[in-house]
Amino acid sequence: MNVDELARELIRGLDAVVPRDTPRPIALHEPEFGEDEQHLVGECIRSGWVSSVGSYVDEFEDCLRQLTGSKFAVAMASGTAALQLALHVLGVRPGDEVLVPTLSFVATANAVSHCGAIPHFIDSEASTLGLDPGALRERLHAVGLRNETNLLNRETGRRISAVIPMHAFGLACKIEEIALVADEFGLPVIEDAAESLGTHLETHHCGRVGRAAMLSFNGNKIVTTGNGGAIITDDEAIAASCKHLSTTAKLKHPWRFDHDQIGWNYRLPNLNAALGVAQLKRLDDIARRKRKLHDSYVTELKDNPNVTVISERPGTRSNYWLNTIRIPSITFQERESLLTRLHQEGYLCRPAWTLLHKLPMYTGSPRGELSQAAMLENELINLPSGPRLRK
Ligand SMILES: *Cc1c(COP(=O)(O)O)cnc(C)c1O
Repeated sequence: MNVDELARELIRGLDAVVPRDTPRPIALHEPEFGEDEQHLVGECIRSGWVSSVGSYVDEFEDCLRQLTGSKFAVAMASGTAALQLALHVLGVRPGDEVLVPTLSFVATANAVSHCGAIPHFIDSEASTLGLDPGALRERLHAVGLRNETNLLNRETGRRISAVIPMHAFGLACKIEEIALVADEFGLPVIEDAAESLGTHLETHHCGRVGRAAMLSFNGNKIVTTGNGGAIITDDEAIAASCKHLSTTAKLKHPWRFDHDQIGWNYRLPNLNAALGVAQLKRLDDIARRKRKLHDSYVTELKDNPNVTVISERPGTRSNYWLNTIRIPSITFQERESLLTRLHQEGYLCRPAWTLLHKLPMYTGSPRGELSQAAMLENELINLPSGPRLRK
């Protein structure tokens, strides 16, 4: 592969998409704030209720329920914390294994580890960049052993207690097929929808198939609370447990400090929720502009034989949080040279993540065959996708 030529072609495409007067360097995404944010955060400070109790937390949760169609939403201090609590509430215990895609952000596996459990890595597929339902089934057939109450990994003797599919960059993974496989083996599904607020499948918002789903409002996500996350679910008991455990498991009483479990301090502060209420009003507009940007990338890069822009699969609607291209058969070294060139031009493009099973803390974790992910690891590049790039 001639990397110089590839870089020149790609930069020509980016130059055609990105408005000329955009200040450089150009990040992958940046948050957008306006008067609403200033106003609500100011109101929150004036009210004195800046911590884990306050009306903005309730309002933020109401907005999330309306947006996603879920019956319950519980706002928490981060997506990672929310995922950890959801896993705990769904019965993941120390020493268990939880199935996760190796092609994901590290938080997916870390949430498993914070439960004392062990991530068990599964392959992804190229069309959605999500967990491959076929690879999941194959792996469970190979190592799964059912007894009356549990599914065991026959190689490690450990219990397998959940599956966490992840929706990458706003593209919906094949969640229905994954859920069928999980059902077949009696495993609960918890969706990592951190990147996919505003993504829709045929009949529902992303994150509505599993027992629960996690959302993130980290500063780089499509909308932000500064730092924050949430669990959405239709299961009242799951929601109640998440709320209880995230607020130190304190029993409601006007003055007594009685706690019935070892809880966490994981609730989203009201101050952050105020920012979130204002941000959620912008979601549709940001997603609309990201879609416009996506269409421009498709147009400008479609004649480039080395590059494929990854688009939503039929029947789904991506929030196009981060536009992603694939450069088939580029090597690691070639990719690094390409990224160096792009950065020199002020395009702060990034590869997808280093595969989780290669990180030092996870090299000993169990895994299935991971050949698709290994290929995608080198071949995926995120393009600048900030909402300011389109009106
Ligand atoms: C952002 C993200 C998380 C974690 O969210 P935080 O709010 O930063 O803790 C988890 N999984 C994925 C895929 C993410 O992109």
